[in-house]
Amino acid sequence: MTMTYAENLDRLGSLVKQTDAFIDGVFTPSVEGRRLDSISPRDGAVVASVAECDRADVDAAVRAARAAFEDGRWSRRAPRSRRRVLQRLSRLLEEHADELALLESVDMGKPVSDAIAVDLRVSVQTFDFYAEAIDKTYDQVAPTDPSVHATITREPLGVVGAVVPWNFPLMLTSWKLGPALAAGNSVVLKPAEQSPLSALRLAELAAEAGLPDGVLNVVPGYGETAGAAIGRHLDVDAVTFTGSGPVGREFLRHAADSNIKQVSLELGGKSPQIVMADAPDTVDVAAAIAGGIFFNQGEVCSAGSRLLVHSSRRDELTEAVVQAARELEPGDPIDPAARLGAMVEAEHLDRVLAYVDSADQEGARRLIGGGRRREDTGGYYLEPTVLDDVAPTMRVAQEEIFGPVLTILPFDTIEEAVALANGTPYGLAAAVWTNDLSTAHLTAKAIRAGTVWVNCYDASDVTVPFGGYGESGIGRDKSLHALDKYSHLKTTWMQL
Ligand code: NAD
Repeated sequence: MTMTYAENLDRLGSLVKQTDAFIDGVFTPSVEGRRLDSISPRDGAVVASVAECDRADVDAAVRAARAAFEDGRWSRRAPRSRRRVLQRLSRLLEEHADELALLESVDMGKPVSDAIAVDLRVSVQTFDFYAEAIDKTYDQVAPTDPSVHATITREPLGVVGAVVPWNFPLMLTSWKLGPALAAGNSVVLKPAEQSPLSALRLAELAAEAGLPDGVLNVVPGYGETAGAAIGRHLDVDAVTFTGSGPVGREFLRHAADSNIKQVSLELGGKSPQIVMADAPDTVDVAAAIAGGIFFNQGEVCSAGSRLLVHSSRRDELTEAVVQAARELEPGDPIDPAARLGAMVEAEHLDRVLAYVDSADQEGARRLIGGGRRREDTGGYYLEPTVLDDVAPTMRVAQEEIFGPVLTILPFDTIEEAVALANGTPYGLAAAVWTNDLSTAHLTAKAIRAGTVWVNCYDASDVTVPFGGYGESGIGRDKSLHALDKYSHLKTTWMQL
């Protein structure tokens, strides 16, 4: 990254290139001509007015996606040829990384240096990974009786509806599009209304990379209209969704009420960080715990929002975490020096503040934070917040806050820690901090979560699956396993 703050401020005026929907290879206004304002959380100003799609636009996008799928322009191409297009897309994302990172930062408030280091790096890796995998994936011959020849082959599902949230707009989109496109599907993508800009630019770059018209369509709009139209559509074969639990349930209902489309859900979490009595050095653990909750303003599905700490380490660790929080001042997200950005929108900031209030009222002790910052900018900035004396039944200990708010709960035995860790409806991620090998293994096994980190937090790679147990969702993103989500398995049985 070579950008400076002054350059980023300079680039803002010419940053937004596409604001219309992308349907059948063409940027087009919405059928009803409505538009929605994309507001930057850094100053509350309108960044762009974007096409607001509704059912008619979703219908057109699905028609284009279906036509592309049926004529085989992508679905029946040799995997090697799909590989080349997706690799070109990766190279284009790399070339435009600074621009896309800035777009992401302006649109949803994350620090631009994180957007480069995480969102763009991971998006590039993701398209590369699935591109490289797809022409090395073999089908199978089943070990049946020799009088039979039975093959198990993968086929693309057809039209995939992808509905994504605003916290990692491009990265989560790549987690869906990488495997879905590599497997030969057509896609209708609805970005979140708070952060539609990077998806539109991605569509433009995908066309430049050679993705045929109709294979990727982008319909910006609201969830209750455009999102629901995808969920209810009779000609959408699968929905791949990342977002909140209540909307995940909506998609299950939509599928039941329409065509039993396949639904995969990556939902929220309330992830515990368990610090055992024999955990490594307090300063190191505290730094990782602060990173685990304050990264991306806490707007992370796998945020380590509950610190479960052995009573013997409680005081020293609490002090070190509070110190780490004190050192994190929110800054203008497009300043490369900013380590904490702005909350995505005013409503969300209010929601997080209401959680802090509820904790005050239920008797938790606020050690630091809970106040707005930089109000003079017009943006939505919040201090990192640490709450002690939190009871497991309090709202802040049970519900996903999706903000920079850490809750601290002490324990005395490993059994108690595991019970607390498993004591919410979620099961996305968890961490265990210990120097004892057996404690690490036994605790990792006992925790009901899709990812367990030992002596680290947020470690991630495209090669490993990501997803949740319980109300954190259904299915996995990333790794070769995600290809299963976008493929039918067909058995062809030949009597010899
Ligand atoms: P959200 O559920 O409100 O919105 C997500 C998407 O769904 C948006 O595109 C939105 O427009 C759309 N939507 C909203 N209402 C809809 C409806 N009635 N029908 C169809 N679509 C609808 O979530 P959010 O606030 O944007 O994102 C935060 C949530 O996402 C958190 O709960 C977070 O944990 C979760 N998340 C999960 C993961 C994961 O991988 N498990 C990753 C990131 C975020």
